[in-house]
Amino acid sequence: MLEAEGAIHRTPGDRSITHAYPFSNEPTGHSVQLDPGPRVFAMCAIDALGMPFMLKRDAQIESACIECASPVRVQIQAATIRQHSQAGLMVWLADQPEGCVVAIDICPNLNFFCSREHLERWQRRTASSGRQLTLAEAVGYGRKVFEALLDDDADGRAADGLPTHDR
Ligand SMILES: [Zn+2]
Repeated sequence: MLEAEGAIHRTPGDRSITHAYPFSNEPTGHSVQLDPGPRVFAMCAIDALGMPFMLKRDAQIESACIECASPVRVQIQAATIRQHSQAGLMVWLADQPEGCVVAIDICPNLNFFCSREHLERWQRRTASSGRQLTLAEAVGYGRKVFEALLDDDADGRAADGLPTHDR
């Protein structure tokens, strides 16, 4: 088990949050250190950026430019971007075909890029269709998606087991 090997760290009481979308049970290229909370893995860059808003917690997101593998970090504090690595950090938002399973089909194509130049190089090579987002746009998008996700579940089931923001 990954947990036994220490690949997934979590504290008692936080168990439920690592067992449903958007959390990945297996390590991915996008790790999210929740504060307070465990380190979890996100399925994609947008999921990673949306988690702090979904959970109403601060978070330190660690990933890498998919083109050159340079480390990428984004710190979300009090629902705003507190600091981040590369000034020109970008996120690729792939087009979403009707009826596909987002987590499986699209997520692998939602990644961070250290610069617009690297994004465009990757885009030319892969002939992907989608949209370039600045970090601020990507955070806004992730926030919108995940706040809507919670609204869909008006009976509050999605919030079961999630500690509330108590600071
Ligand atoms: Zn790069």
